[in-house]
Amino acid sequence: MGPVAFVTGAGRGIGRAVALGLAADGFDIWLNYRSDHQAAESARQEIEALGRRCFPVPFDVADKEAVDGALAPLLERETPFALVNNAGFARDAVFGLMSDEQWHSVLDVHLGGFFHVTRRIVPHMQRARQGRIVNIVSASGQTGMAGQVNYSAAKAGLVGATRALARELGRRNILVNAVAPGFIATDMTLGLPLEEYRKNIPLGRPGTAEEVAGCVRFLCSGLSSYVTGQVISANGGLYM
Ligand code: NAP
Repeated sequence: MGPVAFVTGAGRGIGRAVALGLAADGFDIWLNYRSDHQAAESARQEIEALGRRCFPVPFDVADKEAVDGALAPLLERETPFALVNNAGFARDAVFGLMSDEQWHSVLDVHLGGFFHVTRRIVPHMQRARQGRIVNIVSASGQTGMAGQVNYSAAKAGLVGATRALARELGRRNILVNAVAPGFIATDMTLGLPLEEYRKNIPLGRPGTAEEVAGCVRFLCSGLSSYVTGQVISANGGLYM
């Protein structure tokens, strides 16, 4: 049995790459996703092929009751060493046309999801006197992005939560950091005007989910034992 890493939104995209990377580093994985059972099942098989345990835990991170119901039995048995809050989506619209649903769903998944999941895990990490929490934020929350006022607000809020929680939990040897991806090739960015974005990226290409996962793996490893309250950007130099 290895230490446990709990990764939200890990069926596809960045979360999946994080889960596979952490499994390669020796972690057993609690693999959360929302509805794509097929993607989660193939991620589970890849993790088990690496010789690690994998427990799929499907729930919507924005749904408080679902989070509590799914985590309670798992937390009775084990305490994760690492929590990666990755689940999320964007619902873009120009601000004047942004609906209540677009505003609330994006805040609910990124900020509500962080709150519902992290508050259940933290007391267990505090008792264990160790832990790593990594929140996936975004370049959009660092600089602001037109058409994404909801998403930029949510991700900037998550940066604030990261820094505040790092201060609260430092004495318990729990490190809290964020990783801010730029333009990463996943389902989330399918259909965006790649050539437009490419012009602004010094490395001249979108990043891969694995390149974001590399930062998360570092933050969950012994190599980052004096790093807390930080935001590491994985953005190819975008918005330097
Ligand atoms: P993705 O390819 O669309 O994958 C999203 C994953 O999150 C899926 O596994 C999905 O589950 C899960 N998910 C979505 N909503 C959920 C919910 N309410 N509860 C539980 N799981 C949920 O997205 P991605 O590009 O990997 O993005 C992952 C994170 O990185 C997000 O927080 C995103 O904001 C952030 N990010 C992405 C980029 C980028 O360029 N791609 C840039 C900056 C930040 P199902 O498969 O079941 O739907």
